[in-house]
Amino acid sequence: MNQKTTEKVVKSDEQWKQDLNPQQYHVLREKGTDRAFTGAFYNNHDEGTYLCAGCGQELFSSRSKYDSGSGWPSFYQPASPGVVELDQDNSHGMQRIEVKCARCGGHLGHRFDDGPAPSHLRYCINSTSLKFTPQR
Ligand code: FE
Repeated sequence: MNQKTTEKVVKSDEQWKQDLNPQQYHVLREKGTDRAFTGAFYNNHDEGTYLCAGCGQELFSSRSKYDSGSGWPSFYQPASPGVVELDQDNSHGMQRIEVKCARCGGHLGHRFDDGPAPSHLRYCINSTSLKFTPQR
């Protein structure tokens, strides 16, 4: 039994509002989006690990980060297969794949199929949904 990866984080909206700042609540719990080229990490080239700002789960490694030119942090794969969940998102007149944290259900961003090899996927993630831990 691996509690760390299987235990879900479930909170009421009121609890999330207390535990997150307003921008984090908007993006993670209301599926908001950072304005392009404004987030803390789109231009971060340091080595380290990106954690979920909602629950602390490890989501992405700097090794999978690349410059997509989109203005959002972009990764070609998650840190491990089970850490994100995908959902169909038909909002705003588009058909997109939503990326969520598998542990707390927080909205992270969207996944597109124009990424680099080997996956050819682009996980387009809001900086607000992430916390960065530099490698020591
Ligand atoms: Fe999370």
